[in-house]
Amino acid sequence: MRHEDCLFCKIIDGELPSAKVYEDDHVYAFMDISQVTEGHTLVIPKKHTINIYETDEETAKNFFGSVPKIANAIKKAFNPVGLNILNNNDILAGQTVYHLHFHLIPRYDENDGFDYKWTMNRDEYSQEEREDLAKRISQAIE
Ligand code: AMP
Ligand code: ZN
Repeated sequence: MRHEDCLFCKIIDGELPSAKVYEDDHVYAFMDISQVTEGHTLVIPKKHTINIYETDEETAKNFFGSVPKIANAIKKAFNPVGLNILNNNDILAGQTVYHLHFHLIPRYDENDGFDYKWTMNRDEYSQEEREDLAKRISQAIE
């Protein structure tokens, strides 16, 4: 379950301090130390798993099962205009802590501190190309 050198395992076990939001048999939720926006919460499975790739289905179900109620509690507590849920996997994607976590980031306005931009390439791919991309993934599902 626990990984000896893991920051978040130490937080779950109370060896390092955290501002706890919620805990049950499977999940621990606490305030991100960086508070990208006010109310920025991390939700983590208690079972140590490095990132989404390493996560078994049972752990994923138990983990994600608690996310809606935590999201609704953030909504009730802070009355945000929106909420982004983010999960970074591996270095290029911004993962810095290697224990799976979802960021729940309440949104207040366009300049609230969460910089969120992506490129839309709707016209760059034909339907046939999208189907080819889909096939590469579906054939890889184990
Ligand atoms: P990521 O970059 O997606 O791996 O996210 C890791 C997050 O963990 C960052 O947003 C950090 O601010 C946060 N973090 C790091 N150390 C702590 C800590 N001791 N308590 C709470 N959050 C932390
Ligand atoms: Zn861990």
